[in-house]
Amino acid sequence: SPSIVWFRDDLRLADNPALRAAVDRGAPIIALFVLDDESPGIRPLGGAARWWLHHSLASLAERLREKGGRLVLRRGPAARTVRDVVQDAAAGAVFWNRRYGLPEREIDADLKSSLRADGVEVASFAAALLFEPWTVTTGAGTHFSVFTPFWRACQQQPGPRGPLPEPRTIARFEGDVPSDDLSDWALLPTAPDWAGGLREAWEPGEPAARRRLREFLAEDVGDYDRARDEPAAGATSLLSPRLRWGELGPHTVWHAAAEAGGGGRFLTELGWREFAWHTLFHAPDLATTNLRREFDAFPWPPLRPDLLEAWERGGTGYRLVDAGMRELWATGHMHNRVRMVTASFLVKNLLIDWRLGEQWFWDTLVDADAASNPFNWQWVAGSGADAAPYFRVFNPELQATKFDADGRYVARWAPEYGAGSALRPEPVVDLKESRGAALAAYEAVRRGG
Ligand code: FAD
Repeated sequence: SPSIVWFRDDLRLADNPALRAAVDRGAPIIALFVLDDESPGIRPLGGAARWWLHHSLASLAERLREKGGRLVLRRGPAARTVRDVVQDAAAGAVFWNRRYGLPEREIDADLKSSLRADGVEVASFAAALLFEPWTVTTGAGTHFSVFTPFWRACQQQPGPRGPLPEPRTIARFEGDVPSDDLSDWALLPTAPDWAGGLREAWEPGEPAARRRLREFLAEDVGDYDRARDEPAAGATSLLSPRLRWGELGPHTVWHAAAEAGGGGRFLTELGWREFAWHTLFHAPDLATTNLRREFDAFPWPPLRPDLLEAWERGGTGYRLVDAGMRELWATGHMHNRVRMVTASFLVKNLLIDWRLGEQWFWDTLVDADAASNPFNWQWVAGSGADAAPYFRVFNPELQATKFDADGRYVARWAPEYGAGSALRPEPVVDLKESRGAALAAYEAVRRGG
């Protein structure tokens, strides 16, 4: 009886323990991906993420074909859909790599027990994180809310296992298992087609991800510590969408970086990714609920949609904010320093609830990540784990002077700010005044906290 490998956020053949288990079992393999927009609690993917998913699935299908296999696509509520395929193919085993969001965990746990009750072999594996969330605890057995001791505790664990090689061949199941056509899923934008900038910036899929990793480690990692905060330097890895979609696993990145002499700083960034996911594991409502509940008392003023839109479109009148928001819109990505500045500006100068910013990023980032996105928004807003204190407000002009000293980044994305240009947008708020209003509003949190 065939084995099913249920692909989810792990669109790769290398370092894929679920696929490895199926190959070791020896029977023919059905590689399955389920598009699930229906199960309760599952957050529907944003637009840029759907674009990435389309291309990454096309690449995975191609790679499977090269190895002799075939990718089966189905759409529907995940548990029912997987059970249907098990039945259609009379499959004897189902393998997957674990997910860590609560609705996903519940779906997977229910499915596991119901399949087992039917006599189907089921096994799940650790692949998306270097450390399983339940294994990293404080001396008192609770989870960490501060990064530094968290990361120290991770490093006291046995080191992450080495990456698994990709299988040489994949025995294809010859039975009749219908598959959707990827194009019928309409994951790509059509009218209007806003993805031109994404196509120019990215090549999704495992082979391109591996090339980018090699290139980064050969050329850029040495300069990472010095230049990582400068958005024009191109000094960061650009691996975030590849890690988000699992075209590369963190074990592969970890060991390759360590072997290439990749500085501790880069490995520590992978640690922040772990911390975000461990935080989501323990606080499943991270995208909707303040981790520090005293922030529930924050008196957000009535929403000004004009200000929100000025931010989204990159028309705030502040050069680094506008450049960042346009980079995001054009490419589906934004440099980390600029993510911090644009997020701070939304929350602390426009006084707009971080959740609305999180939602915009969710829709526009190709690396939109269920843990890292809300985690970092809460970090900027001050309501999160080990967060920046609310009263520390970035000044976007000083940030531009410091991290884009020669103006190259702004010139690329918001050229109208060039010297003497009359086209630059009017500032939508006064920095000093708006900062004062934000700090006054924060008093409500301090009094309640
Ligand atoms: P590098 O500097 O090369 O870092 C290597 C890897 O480490 C990244 O690919 C990423 O996987 C991880 N990493 C680095 N910084 C962080 C961090 N602060 N938190 C978690 N992981 C990190 N990252 C996402 O992957 N998805 C998101 O949805 C996301 N939303 C964010 C929202 C805001 C408001 C902020 C301030 C940051 C957000 N980040 C998010 C974190 C960070 O900005 C990106 O991971 C980074 O810019 C990706 O570029 P890179 O791959 O070149 O990073």
